[in-house]
Amino acid sequence: MSFVPDSGQLCGLSLQVAELYGKPHLHAHYAGKGVRTHRMDDGATCAVCRRMATNVHHVPPVSKGLFTLRTPQGEWELRPALFALCGSGTTGCHNLFHGGARYQPEWVWFLDYQEAWWSGDLLKTYEPHDPGLFAYGRWVIHDRNTGTTFEPWR
Ligand SMILES: [Zn+2]
Ligand SMILES: [Zn+2]
Repeated sequence: MSFVPDSGQLCGLSLQVAELYGKPHLHAHYAGKGVRTHRMDDGATCAVCRRMATNVHHVPPVSKGLFTLRTPQGEWELRPALFALCGSGTTGCHNLFHGGARYQPEWVWFLDYQEAWWSGDLLKTYEPHDPGLFAYGRWVIHDRNTGTTFEPWR
């Protein structure tokens, strides 16, 4: 991994947070243009434990706002990815992404596709959140209590 986006592109975010925007959802989607139009897919199960999902988590949280990805090939206003989870902001798996922030999601690119994202190449072909992006990278969740990582269900 030699590629690093320049700091101007990151708009003050850490690379790890900036990489969360525009990535594929897990059992959820946006029904409209706003960041609050999130919906669970029909019959959605929790991306962590596979129980019935009850609500949706923004990755990163809504408080981080949107992220404008500026590239030589265009600009994309990116929204957080969405994970359907069980529980709520204070219970179940959803709570473990808040509160003590036990679970930290990360988007990990395969090979050198990170550069293809930051140059705008991938977004010329794929819409933000396109499931086709799973051909180029994957979600990983870090469990800060155990120091382990796991892949969420998709
Ligand atoms: Zn769960
Ligand atoms: Zn949440």
